[in-house]
Amino acid sequence: MKKILLLTIFLFTSCLNNEKEKKDINFGIVIHGGAGTILKENMSDEKEKQYLDALEEAIKIGYNIINDGGPSQLAVEKTINFLENSPLFNAGKGAVLTSSGIVELDASFMDGKTLNAGAVAGVRTLKNPISAAIKVMNNSPHVFLSGEGADQFGKEQGLEIVNQEYFLTKRRIDGLEKVKEMELDNEISFINSNEYINQKYGTVGCVVLDKNGNLASGTSTGGMTNKKWNRIGDVPVIGAGTYANNLTCAVSSTGWGEFFIRNVVAYDISALIEYKGLSVNEAAKIVIHDKVAKIGGSGGVIAIDNKGNIAMEMNTPGMYRAHINSKGKLTVKIFN
Ligand code: ASP
Repeated sequence: MKKILLLTIFLFTSCLNNEKEKKDINFGIVIHGGAGTILKENMSDEKEKQYLDALEEAIKIGYNIINDGGPSQLAVEKTINFLENSPLFNAGKGAVLTSSGIVELDASFMDGKTLNAGAVAGVRTLKNPISAAIKVMNNSPHVFLSGEGADQFGKEQGLEIVNQEYFLTKRRIDGLEKVKEMELDNEISFINSNEYINQKYGTVGCVVLDKNGNLASGTSTGGMTNKKWNRIGDVPVIGAGTYANNLTCAVSSTGWGEFFIRNVVAYDISALIEYKGLSVNEAAKIVIHDKVAKIGGSGGVIAIDNKGNIAMEMNTPGMYRAHINSKGKLTVKIFN
């Protein structure tokens, strides 16, 4: 009798412990919709609300997946698909235009558990480039595909194909015209200034820690307005625009891509955590404010570490961003 009683007490307390452990599991999701000269005085209340609502809707897609025990990869993909399909952001529909008035899209994904990664650059027909990046990772022997070949691969993988008209929006057509006029009218020093460059970009990204402790990161963009010569930015460059490692953190970048490539931004944040023992927040601050800013670059990052601590750091006046932690607490912000 005594034995049965002890066994019952043992089973009961281990059940309680399991429940407590489940509650203590840290998971979380952070997204961005691009950084730049986003100023309160230039934004109507209506526009601001549109962005806040879209960010909230997007992040809840990923949060619901991980809250139900789903994997970080799926959460990143579905959240970014939503942002790619929204004309508000510079990715998928509503992406910025190249100098010849077309859309060329870049995206990448990295899995923190396996260190597998996939990326596409300069695609013109794939509705959701982040899904193509994940297919490259899962269904090809490669990491990085570009141009027509990447479009072809996506098609063979059964991804949705669209024509260029699908991506075009009036806002971006007008934006290209404005940027071209500014470039004609201004000095080269102005064209290379942060003040000017800040108006030309935007990107979407998502980093996730799931309940199994797996990190993932994805980033998707149209790049920079008026880009020429099949220019590719940091977004599809693993280690610059996107990085994830279960030992450290997951990072997604947004900003003046050339500087993010030169600073290997996403990997640098991970390396500062791995080799120097910094917190994710300290690491993001150093990279964005000391390293990127010091060589003249601007932009921001989102990051989440393997314990669910996060960073949303920028050296620009704003960055569209949102976070939900394991308790379901939502934060959505635009201005710095
Ligand atoms: N980093 C992107 C690029 O340079 C643009 C952005 O994030 O806003 O292509």
